Amino acid sequence: MSIIQDNTTALDFLSSYDSKDGLNVNQLMDSKTRGGLTYNDFLILPGKINFPSSIVNLESKLTKKITLKAPFVSSPMDTVTEVNMAIHMALLGGIGILHHNCSPEEQAEMVRQVKRYENGFINNPVVVSPDFTVGDVKKLKESLGFAGYPVTENGKFPGKLVGIITSRDIQFHEDNSTKVSEIMTTDIVTAHKGIGLHDGNEILRKSKKGKLPIVDSNNNLVSLLSRTDLMKNLNYPNASKSPQTKQLLCGAAIGTIEADKERLAKLVEAGLDVVVLDSSQGNSVFQLNMIKWIKQTFPDLQIIGGNVVTREQAASLIQAGVDGLRIGMGSGSICITQEVMACGRPQGTAVFNVSEFANKFGVPCIADGGIQNIGHITKAIALGASTCMMGGMLAGTTESPGEYFYRDGKRLKSYRGMGSIDAMQKTSVSGNAATSRYFSESDQVLVAQGVSGSVVDKGSIKKYIPYIFNGLQHSCQDIGVQSLAQLREEVDNGDVRFEFRTASAQLEGGVHNLHSYNKRLYN
Ligand code: IMP
Repeated sequence: MSIIQDNTTALDFLSSYDSKDGLNVNQLMDSKTRGGLTYNDFLILPGKINFPSSIVNLESKLTKKITLKAPFVSSPMDTVTEVNMAIHMALLGGIGILHHNCSPEEQAEMVRQVKRYENGFINNPVVVSPDFTVGDVKKLKESLGFAGYPVTENGKFPGKLVGIITSRDIQFHEDNSTKVSEIMTTDIVTAHKGIGLHDGNEILRKSKKGKLPIVDSNNNLVSLLSRTDLMKNLNYPNASKSPQTKQLLCGAAIGTIEADKERLAKLVEAGLDVVVLDSSQGNSVFQLNMIKWIKQTFPDLQIIGGNVVTREQAASLIQAGVDGLRIGMGSGSICITQEVMACGRPQGTAVFNVSEFANKFGVPCIADGGIQNIGHITKAIALGASTCMMGGMLAGTTESPGEYFYRDGKRLKSYRGMGSIDAMQKTSVSGNAATSRYFSESDQVLVAQGVSGSVVDKGSIKKYIPYIFNGLQHSCQDIGVQSLAQLREEVDNGDVRFEFRTASAQLEGGVHNLHSYNKRLYN
C-alpha cells in the first residue's frame, strides 16, 4: 500500500471515501441476508467526544403525551412492580407499570398509594391503639426497627389522632403492662393536610420534635413527617410528575377481557395516567375493541398497546388509536414463548421493524424484554425505541415485591414469568385476569410460557437506576451524541454507524482468559 506523499490531510482523504466506516442501520438490519438480530449481535461504532457525559439529555417519550426524563419502565410483573417500585421508578425519572395479578380493588389501592406519595411524607404510617401495652410497643419497635407511633382512637389508620408514643416514653418504663393511653404524649404539634414539605420541615425544626402528624379538619391522621426521614431524603430532580397535579406518574396493566373494563374504571378513579394492555400477542380483536372502548370512555387516558413484533401487528393497533406500543415476544429472561409457541422474533429486529413503522405515526415504542445491561438500552434506543421496559434487571432490588431468602450462600428474591404456572395459578385462585395475557383464562390445562426462578440481591434502585442513568449518558458520549433524540436522528441519517458481531467477536467483547475475576458494576 502506498503512503500519501502530497499535502492531503487525513480528514481530507477521509472525505474521499464514498461512505462512512461501518454499516448504516438498514444495512445492519437487513434480515433477508442476515436473519433476525439480538442486541448482542451488533455494536455501535464510536463517534467524537467533545462534551461532558453529564450534559447528555436522556429525555424520551413513553406515549404521545407523556415524556420521561429517563427512558426506564418497570414491567407489570408480580415480582417486579408494586407500590414501592412504582414510586421509586417515578422518583428517579422513569415509570412503574403496576401488575394486575391481583383483584381490581388491590390494584386500584396501589395506584392510589403511588398518586398520594409525596417525597418525605409517610402516607401509610404505622399507628397503635390507646389500649396497646408498653410491651406491645416494645415488640413493635423491635420488629420494625423504629419507634414513634401516632396513637389513633380506633388503633387504625386513618383514625382520629389522640396522642403519640415515642421511644422516650417507653425507654425507661419497666412495667410492660401499662397501657399506651396512660403514658402517651397528648400535647402534640400537628400540621394541617395540604401543608408542603418545606413548611412541614420548618415546623419540625422549630418544635424540636421527631414526628409531625398531619391531620384533616376532623383531627383524623392523614400522614406523618419524620425528622430522620427528612434528613435522609434525597432530591429527585428527574421525578416523573403530572404537570397538573404534581403527583407522581403511575401506569398499570390490564387484560383485554370484559371484566377488565370495570377494573380500568377503578384504576382511572384512583388517578391512573397510563394503561398498558397486557397481552403476549397484541394483535387481537379483544385488544382492538378494548382500545376503541377506552378511547371513547376515558379520552384523556394514555393507552399502550402490545405486545407486537411486526409492522402488521403494529399497524392494526396504531389504526385503533394507541398512544404507545410495547415491543417484544419471546425475548424476556423468564420466557419460553418462542420455544413453546414457535412465535416471536429476535428482539433487535423486532424493535427496529416496529419502531421504524410506528415512529412515522408519532407513536413511541417501548423495547420490552431481553434488556440485560446498559449497552442493551443504548442499542434498543438506537434501533428506534423510545423507552425500555425491564423485568429481570429490576427484580431482586429492595423495591421489588417479595422477601429475600438465602440459597447456596446467595441472597435472592423470586422472579417469575407472568405466564409461568405459578403466576397463572395464583391468578385462577384469586379469580383474576392475568391469564388473559396468554389467552388462557378458560383453559383446563394451563400451557406455561414462562418459568419461575430467582435473581440475586441488587440493592436499592435508588443506587441502581442512577448507575444505569450515568452509564447511558457515558454510552451516548462515546457514540458522540448529546441526547437520545440526537442518537435516533443520527441513526436515521446514517451518521451513527454499526458493526455486525460474529460469534467470536461476541466472545472477544466479554471478559476472557482470566483465572477468576470480580465483576462489580458500581459503587
Ligand atoms: P426481562 O426484562 O428480560 O426479564 O423480560 C421482562 C418481559 O418479559 C416482560 O415485560 C414481559 O413482556 C415478558 N414476560 C413476562 N412474563 C413472561 C412469561 O411468563 N413469558 C414470556 N414473557 C414474559
